[in-house]
Amino acid sequence: MKKIAIYPGSFDPITNGHVDLIKRASKLFDDIIIGITQNGKKAAFLSIDDRINTINTALKGIDNIKVLSFDTLLVDFAAKQNAQVILRGLRAVSDFEYEFRLSGMNKHLNPNIETLFMTPAEQYANISSSLVKEILALGGDISVFVPASVEALLKQRL
Ligand code: ADP
Repeated sequence: MKKIAIYPGSFDPITNGHVDLIKRASKLFDDIIIGITQNGKKAAFLSIDDRINTINTALKGIDNIKVLSFDTLLVDFAAKQNAQVILRGLRAVSDFEYEFRLSGMNKHLNPNIETLFMTPAEQYANISSSLVKEILALGGDISVFVPASVEALLKQRL
């Protein structure tokens, strides 16, 4: 049986932290499905199509990934994709409480799907999509936080 993980998130935009996590996970699983959430609380900056394209470009060369968007319950999306694992990233203690609650709720909804947490390499631990957008809006340099192709698109969309 193929080991499949779903990596869900807003990816608005994908950052070097996300990329680092996906690269590490792609060595542990047969397939990684990156699931773009459509029903987040946050208003999106990039369209779903822009996000799909930027993720595919940023991850060129990693063959076992697929990028999809979904607007259903995460555990239902995971089950539909035959995934056994939901992958989430932990950057700091501040992520822990929310992620802990999320994984607990998801376990209630579908006990067969495990949540697995991974941490990024140290230099990516402070990067967040929302801070990238704030820095971009104020004219700061975001080149160390996102892949070059993402930076170019973000500047176009500003
Ligand atoms: P969400 O809106 O679901 O939090 P994000 O795109 O912000 O979506 O993040 C998706 C997942 O990636 C989350 O588990 C988040 O904690 C994790 N993540 C975000 N930024 C980083 C980073 N710099 N390093 C590692 N994991 C990260």
